[in-house]
Amino acid sequence: MLSWEDIIHECENCQKCNLARTRTNVVMGKGNVNSRLMFVGEGPGEQEDKQGQPFVGPAGKLLDLLLDALMFKKEDYYISNIVKCRPPRNRVPTDEEAIKCMPLLRNQVRLIRPKIIVCLGATATKFLIDPNARITHIRGQWYERKGFSLMPTFHPAALLRDESKKVLVWADIKKVKQRFNSIC
Ligand code: URA
Repeated sequence: MLSWEDIIHECENCQKCNLARTRTNVVMGKGNVNSRLMFVGEGPGEQEDKQGQPFVGPAGKLLDLLLDALMFKKEDYYISNIVKCRPPRNRVPTDEEAIKCMPLLRNQVRLIRPKIIVCLGATATKFLIDPNARITHIRGQWYERKGFSLMPTFHPAALLRDESKKVLVWADIKKVKQRFNSIC
């Protein structure tokens, strides 16, 4: 099994897809690598690419507010993305980019061994739960895969575009909080 040092080295030197050409930084993830809870988003945006940290831009700030309000502490979770390099103009990563990047996420999951994985948005839901699933249909329900409990919900960026989704994400993350409290 790869160590964290191996994964970091692999990430920082990765040239497997074209995103490597336009990135400023590889954005691996942040948070507690020993936590039982993991959030997975889509891919770094402009701020994340600049700072080398996930979820530090507007969507990340909104997610922070939501998680703070539900009394999650920073050490309760680890957060990463399906792709580790920013897609130009924040477009959705292509299937090829996501598939090439997935081994890095799998290795992160192997090392962290979370019990709960929250899929933030359609891309994470597609690659971690069901390639044909529609986030609007399946969000808010638990899925069991390979010993992990997965919860799909809307991406925080979607909440910035459509405030009415906030109440739904609140309900979904509340379910996560309940399960997290019961296992930790
Ligand atoms: N959106 C994502 O999916 N990930 C980030 O890190 C930032 C914004």
